[in-house]
Amino acid sequence: MTTQARQIPLNYDRLLKGFVDILSVDSYWGNENRVVAIIQPRLEEVGVHFERDKIGNLIGLWPAHGKSSRPIMLNAHMDTVQPTPEMRPVVKDDAVYSDGSSVLGADDKAGVAAIVESVVAVHEAGLEHGPIDLVFTVGEDVGQYGADAFDPNDIESRMGLVLDSGGPVGEVINQQAGSYSFTATFHGKAAHAGIEAAEGINAIAMMARAVDQMPLGQINERTVSNVGIVSGGQANNICPPEARITGQARSLNQDELDRQMDAMRKAAEDAAVAFGGRVEYEQSGRFKATQFSEDHPAICLADIAIRASGLEPQHVSTFGGSDAQNFNEKGIETTMLGCGYHNVHSVDEYMPHEALRQLFQVSAQLIINA
Ligand SMILES: [Zn+2]
Repeated sequence: MTTQARQIPLNYDRLLKGFVDILSVDSYWGNENRVVAIIQPRLEEVGVHFERDKIGNLIGLWPAHGKSSRPIMLNAHMDTVQPTPEMRPVVKDDAVYSDGSSVLGADDKAGVAAIVESVVAVHEAGLEHGPIDLVFTVGEDVGQYGADAFDPNDIESRMGLVLDSGGPVGEVINQQAGSYSFTATFHGKAAHAGIEAAEGINAIAMMARAVDQMPLGQINERTVSNVGIVSGGQANNICPPEARITGQARSLNQDELDRQMDAMRKAAEDAAVAFGGRVEYEQSGRFKATQFSEDHPAICLADIAIRASGLEPQHVSTFGGSDAQNFNEKGIETTMLGCGYHNVHSVDEYMPHEALRQLFQVSAQLIINA
């Protein structure tokens, strides 16, 4: 890997306009076509070939120019969270804000805008680059629907960079927590709670014992767990025959995550035995924890691009979910980069101009240093 330690010329007015254009459309899940309509023609002009997959992800291949490096994937998601009644971005001296009636949608349109402008700028500067897969996903914020449905065979890259993390530009996510969920359904025995109380087995009491015995909350700095929903019972005069809990655990360490899930299952099973009932315990493993070493190619490329942008890389871990988890699960080794936006998922969201400039430069440096 050779480093081209030169800054890519930036036309900031054009980057800002491109950013504001896509911020001005409501692209909540299902409406991402409005962003596609703006960015696809701009990128086709510089030679990107696009396809849409069945869920609506916009997948572009930008062929290599004068360089035969391995392909890399750049990704950002086109949807936002709500509220999105009317999107009216307000450009001030320091940053771009929403007008207070909606989210701004810099999460993740700052990533989208930076990628689009960096491709155009590298093209205009006539710089060499390898093949770049541009994947603009749909439905990230409603549960990573687009990345979940994404077929990795639609692109060649087996390494990816997702511009969608909340930290400052320069942050590199080198550890992503794994996340598993469970449902425990406790079965007791119904009985009239007044006239045959001794005949009943109270499933709610069984469930309460299990929850009490589960390690919950902040287990340590690597592992967290939660019981989120309880349900059960029919009437005050019926000993409840069934009760249910659902919960989850997340950990940066896969062994700890497995142990945590085992401890929750054991608490449920022990409670069932103690009460003479039974429990059905179902675990839905979503994502395994991922951890990249300091010399992982994706981390190295991110570090090079960040340094070439005049910043110092910071390696951090995250407990949050993102499309990067789905890409990793599908064999595309993917890290996430900080985008520098603030107060995301709220009407106070804003994107400093300085962060947008930096994000553009990092994206451009990823392209020419891959
Ligand atoms: Zn996001």
